[in-house]
Amino acid sequence: MSELLTANDKRTKYCGEFTSADAGKRVCVMGWAQRQRDLGSLIFIDLRDRSGILQLAFDENTNKAVFDTAFGVRAEYVLCAKGVVRMRSSVNKNIPTGEVELYVDELKVLSSAQTPPFEIVENSSVKPELRLKHRYLDLRRPDLSRNIMARSKISKIARDYFCGEQGFMDIETPCLIRPTPEGARDYLVPSRVHPGNFYALPQSPQLYKQLLMLSGFDRYFQIARCFRDEDLRADRQPEFTQIDLEMSFVTQDDVISVVEGFLKKVFWEFKGIDIEMPLMRMTYAEAMDRFGSDKPDLRFGFELKDLTEIARGCSFKVFSGAVENGGNVRGIKIDGGASAFSRKDIDSLTEYVKSYRAKGLAWYKVQNGEVSSSYAKFLSQEENEAVVRTLEIGDGDIAFIVADKPQVVFDSLGALRCEIARRLGLTKNAGYKLLWVTDFPLLEYSEEDGRYYAKHHPFTMPNPDDLPLLETAPEKVRSIAYDIVINGTEAGGGSIRIHTPDIQNRMFRALGIGEEEAQNKFGFLLEAFKYGTPPHGGLAFGLDRLTALLLGIDDIRDVIAFPKVQNASELMTKCPAPADEKALEELSIAVTKTEEEV
Ligand code: ASP
Repeated sequence: MSELLTANDKRTKYCGEFTSADAGKRVCVMGWAQRQRDLGSLIFIDLRDRSGILQLAFDENTNKAVFDTAFGVRAEYVLCAKGVVRMRSSVNKNIPTGEVELYVDELKVLSSAQTPPFEIVENSSVKPELRLKHRYLDLRRPDLSRNIMARSKISKIARDYFCGEQGFMDIETPCLIRPTPEGARDYLVPSRVHPGNFYALPQSPQLYKQLLMLSGFDRYFQIARCFRDEDLRADRQPEFTQIDLEMSFVTQDDVISVVEGFLKKVFWEFKGIDIEMPLMRMTYAEAMDRFGSDKPDLRFGFELKDLTEIARGCSFKVFSGAVENGGNVRGIKIDGGASAFSRKDIDSLTEYVKSYRAKGLAWYKVQNGEVSSSYAKFLSQEENEAVVRTLEIGDGDIAFIVADKPQVVFDSLGALRCEIARRLGLTKNAGYKLLWVTDFPLLEYSEEDGRYYAKHHPFTMPNPDDLPLLETAPEKVRSIAYDIVINGTEAGGGSIRIHTPDIQNRMFRALGIGEEEAQNKFGFLLEAFKYGTPPHGGLAFGLDRLTALLLGIDDIRDVIAFPKVQNASELMTKCPAPADEKALEELSIAVTKTEEEV
């Protein structure tokens, strides 16, 4: 019994927009029945659309036919209702339209609905798998729907700022591109007309945006979809969206200052928060030294302190042995933490650091003047005093120490300070702390592969002061790369780019990419650099992450309309899926193993 809309059925406005100012007006609304309440001769229906809810009222005594239609309405039926807005006898303070209701005298059921597999309510406790399978229904839930609309607003603020105020050009770059050998794994797309050849989906528009600078567009902007075939973590998706920028004739400071303008605007317009600019800057070296991380969360302290010199040669083998093996010993102190962490808590923190490859977690606690510790008995009094002094441990405090390879110490203590802050509730409603991390190392050595990789990407400009070291001590070369870090999350990153063929060639060599390979894979870029390249640089924000940060949401899937799950599949359409034989044949592709056989 679905009815059709006619030319007379014109919606006055969204359900959530009605106020007492509309009382007495004749209006038309459309939406989904949230619920129907039958009170004998009265029926109330909460009508929902993306803006909120309006109560519809039906009275058997005054309009029997409409009342009878309303009687048959079930949850998620789609309705068109007309009538006069009136003040409610009992005000509902919980919803913005709670003062008014629509007294309905015309009702059309535009669509009926089966009982949905889960209730369409805020803060659903239904399993994510079921909700993702019916994502279109999940997206009706007001909290999720608000996230998606918020994301749209953030995109608009970005476009208004960059293209509207700052003169950036919105330019699309291709989605079918040449496979890139560097960086993450590519998603490959087989070519039908060139059997045996493949496109890749872009990991980012990096080279195209650089080439647009060469073409003279000066300032490029794109809200770009990127694809990386990596093992997924909670905050990663195989396809994600970047707010992508590139600018010509700029230095690092120029890029940073334009981006700060955007951050100022988005925080103000979206959150009503006036972020003080310029933002703090910290070098990579300092961030690692003080926070054990290149994305330090500055909402709390617990800074790392170096105990390596005290530990060197001490009689506690766990400490001194680590130093002998080229490692170091560092600790953090939690003010007033002595009473917050029982033995059981310490055990669980020990397990926590083990997931960062630490072998153990040493601790030292002072409670009511009494010391307890996992290691103090193995150290001399002077050594213990030196540790207490360095970590500034006072009565009521607890300290945690890790002795290991430097990377393990940084990773585990860097993560531990954040985990402790979470457990102590210090990250809840703690506001926003933004900073730039700068001077990243240009290269990173992989023991496993026995070669260097670009820390940012192979097109990042080495710091000119360090350039002479590129061949002799590549690990010492800093780059002109910068990340914007918000509450311990990397919200975006960028760099000034190499714009001459000679430095680009030296960089390829440092990465173990020979001349022939470089020509083969990046010949177009090296060639392009010969024809007059402006110095340029840029940055990309992760739109998904930025949205999640601004909304205070942990799960990135909650800001993406149709996300994928951990194993890179989408539960609603069940993708990926086998291709049919004919399609494979046309692509000259043979499947050598199926999912079941892997
Ligand atoms: N293309 C870089 C990335 O995706 C960002 C940039 O350097 O602009 O991380």
